[in-house]
Amino acid sequence: MVHIIDTLQLQRAKIIAVTVLESTDGLVLFDCGPESTFDNVVVGMKAIGLPVEDVRHVFLSHIHFDHAGAAWRLAEKGATLYVHPRGAPHLINPAKLVESATRIYGDNMGRLWGRLAAVPEAQVRIANNGDVFTAGQFQIRATDTPGHANHHNVYQWDDNVFGGDVAGVTINGGPPIPPFVPPELNIESWQQSLDKLRAMKAARFYLPHYGLVEGGIGAHLDAVQERLHRWSTWFRDQLRAGKTEAELIPLFAKYEADDLQSGGSNPDVVKDYEYADPSFMAVTSSIRYWQKFHPDQIGMTAR
Ligand SMILES: [Zn+2]
Repeated sequence: MVHIIDTLQLQRAKIIAVTVLESTDGLVLFDCGPESTFDNVVVGMKAIGLPVEDVRHVFLSHIHFDHAGAAWRLAEKGATLYVHPRGAPHLINPAKLVESATRIYGDNMGRLWGRLAAVPEAQVRIANNGDVFTAGQFQIRATDTPGHANHHNVYQWDDNVFGGDVAGVTINGGPPIPPFVPPELNIESWQQSLDKLRAMKAARFYLPHYGLVEGGIGAHLDAVQERLHRWSTWFRDQLRAGKTEAELIPLFAKYEADDLQSGGSNPDVVKDYEYADPSFMAVTSSIRYWQKFHPDQIGMTAR
C-alpha cells in the first residue's frame, strides 16, 4: 500500500511529496521533505491512520533539504536512514551543507527549510549501487543515478520506482522537466541515469515533485531527456554569446515559463514549478556545468 503525503511546503499544495509504503516491518518513507514541514507530514500521515512512530525505514534519494531536511527528526523517532555513500557524511555532519545552502538561500534558509541537525551515525545505512534492502515483505534496490546531484539514488520495489529528482518534476499535469540545481549538475551523467531508469521497466514512478506517474513512463522519460538536452544547449548558446548570470536569470525564467505554458500549464501551475524548482538555480548550475566540464564550448580557454 503506497500513500503520497503532501508536505504543504510554504502552505502550497503539491510542491513536495513524501511517499509512504506500508510494510510488515513498519512504515517505509521515500524522502521526508524539509524540516519546516515535518509537522504537516505527521498530521497528513495521522489523517490516514499512519502514526509517525511506526516509521522504521527512510530511503533518501539525495540530501538536498527539500528531500532530506527532516531526516534527523525521523532519526529521533528511531528510524533508519538509507542514503547514497556520497550523501552519508553530510547527513552525519550537515555543517558544510548548511554553509553552501546559506550561500544560495541566505536569510530565507529558516523559512524555506527549517532547522538542520545531525543524524546519529548508527542510524545511517549506506545504500550503494545495486544494494538490496529488506523492509518487511519488500525488497528495495538502490541504483546510483547521478546528474541532478552526484550523490543521488533511486529505489525500486517490484515495478515501482521512487525516482527522486533525476526522474524529473511534473506538477498538476504539467510537462516533465529536469530540475537543474547547483552545485553538481552533470548533463552526461543525467543522460546515463535516464537510460538506467528506462531499463527498470517501471509501471509506476513516485516523484517528490510531485506524486504518482502511472503509465506513459517512456514518454515521461523522453520528455525529461528532450528538455535536458534542449535546456542545457540553450544555456551553452547564451553563454557563448556572452550573457552574464544577471542577464540569464530573467531570460531563463521566461524561457522555462514559455516552455511550461506551451506544454499546457497555466500561470498558476508555472508558479508551482517555480516553488518546486526555482529557475534561478538552473542558471547558477548551468554556468557552473559549462565552465567546469566544457569551457571550450562556451568560448573559455580550457584549463
Ligand atoms: Zn527536489
